[in-house]
Amino acid sequence: MTNNLVAVAYIAASALFILSLGGLSNQETARQGNMFGIIGMAIAFIATALSAQVNGYGILVGAIVPGAIIGSILAARVAMTSMPELVAILHSFVGLAAVLVGLATYLQPENGLTGVEATIHELEIFIGIFIGAVTFAGSVVAFGKLNGSFGSKPLMLPARHLINIGLLVGSVVLGYQFMSTANGLQPLLIMTGLACILGFLLVMGIGGADMPVVISMLNSYSGWAAAAAGFMLSNDVLIVTGALVGSSGAILSYIMCEAMNRSFVSVILGGFGEGAAAAPTGEAKPMGEATATNVEEVAELLNDAKSVVIVPGYGMAVAQAQHSVSDITKILRQRGKEVRFGIHPVAGRMPGHMNVLLAEANVPYDIVLEMDEINDDLSDTDVVLVIGANDTVNPSALDDPTSPIAGMPVMEVWKSQNVVVMKRSLGIGYAGVDNPLFYMDNNQMLFGDAKANVSALLNELAKTEKELVAA
Ligand code: NDP
Repeated sequence: MTNNLVAVAYIAASALFILSLGGLSNQETARQGNMFGIIGMAIAFIATALSAQVNGYGILVGAIVPGAIIGSILAARVAMTSMPELVAILHSFVGLAAVLVGLATYLQPENGLTGVEATIHELEIFIGIFIGAVTFAGSVVAFGKLNGSFGSKPLMLPARHLINIGLLVGSVVLGYQFMSTANGLQPLLIMTGLACILGFLLVMGIGGADMPVVISMLNSYSGWAAAAAGFMLSNDVLIVTGALVGSSGAILSYIMCEAMNRSFVSVILGGFGEGAAAAPTGEAKPMGEATATNVEEVAELLNDAKSVVIVPGYGMAVAQAQHSVSDITKILRQRGKEVRFGIHPVAGRMPGHMNVLLAEANVPYDIVLEMDEINDDLSDTDVVLVIGANDTVNPSALDDPTSPIAGMPVMEVWKSQNVVVMKRSLGIGYAGVDNPLFYMDNNQMLFGDAKANVSALLNELAKTEKELVAA
């Protein structure tokens, strides 16, 4: 393939990636957006494989075929609940790839650059490896925190900010040494180690409810790491793709921070904020008497209601209750009730987690509303069903300044006439904070697995439907 043809293919792929991002911004066009992304990636991949730079297919096939097989098996097997971990570990691969590409480019330069161009290229290598190493180590920790291996508590090392600044300054000094010696491998490798420690400490220092920002931030870093690899390899499509991922991840991080009323800088510096400094206790403390209810009573409550809002959370994802929730929605709507969903921006364990599950269960998009769109309506709502959500419906975020989630806007479900919380116990959520909602007068707890309870509720509602028809 000629260089011109490769350039045209790269432009087409870049345009498709932009269309893909546009499509992914809306649920109705998300499938199409995904398709654009797949086609763009296929074009970029084929053009790169056929370009003049590739002169042997042995290694390429040897690396790609097993990689594609492992990737397909993992993607096919992964449960929706484990998706956030998969995303986190994939970010770490991007970081690792940037580190390896950087080291390989440094060890075997083929570019024939001299003077200023060579200096710029070395700088690209150094910065690319630094971003890649931070992304790699940070993403591995995020993976561990999401799958429970590390626990969600922030690691509060004494003088952690000083340590982080020390690592940063150390990396800059090593950068100077790297640029000023002919053989800079040693400072490059030491910096890689320091950057890994920095990535580890930065993400270990963030905990509880601030994790969503870290996930989107690592997403952004992985984009910049890919862009850096693109500069090192002089590959335009990698630069464009990396920049798209990097900037969209940065915008997502900003949106997450806004949604959680957090300062971006304080979150990425690992707990500068007051809230984040208050580490979660990890245990639920008794706060009064919670009222337990049963499936029959909840079905009655729903039958009597005119307006119902369903607030899903991580527990719905764990229980895989979305299909039964969708069936309940259908029945209630057929009975002329207004049913809507209220989605908190950080519900679940990854951005858009709840929207994906509800779309998978064919819940109509127009009744799935964002927190800001529905919060004001909750005081006029007869029943709110909270299904496996906890931190995102916790009133202490608004009225307890000492809470680790203080200041985070939440779904104000307690303002409705009746609240039913479906979960297995009075236990805590991801942020490790007790929830006063469970003890409020207008709240009842429907204990048990969300899938079992939602299915039982569905049967109960279907039963009353038959009784109505018979009468
Ligand atoms: P939470 O993590 O606050 O609470 C989920 C609740 O689900 C738990 O308290 C648990 O209670 C319940 N649960 C678990 N399994 C089941 C089950 N099988 N059936 C019924 N209930 C179950 O969830 P939210 O969605 O409200 O909040 C998300 C939290 O995760 C926030 O703190 C957010 O910051 C954080 N986070 C979000 C990310 C994102 O990108 N969205 C990424 C990382 C973290 P019990 O054990 O009693 O059943």
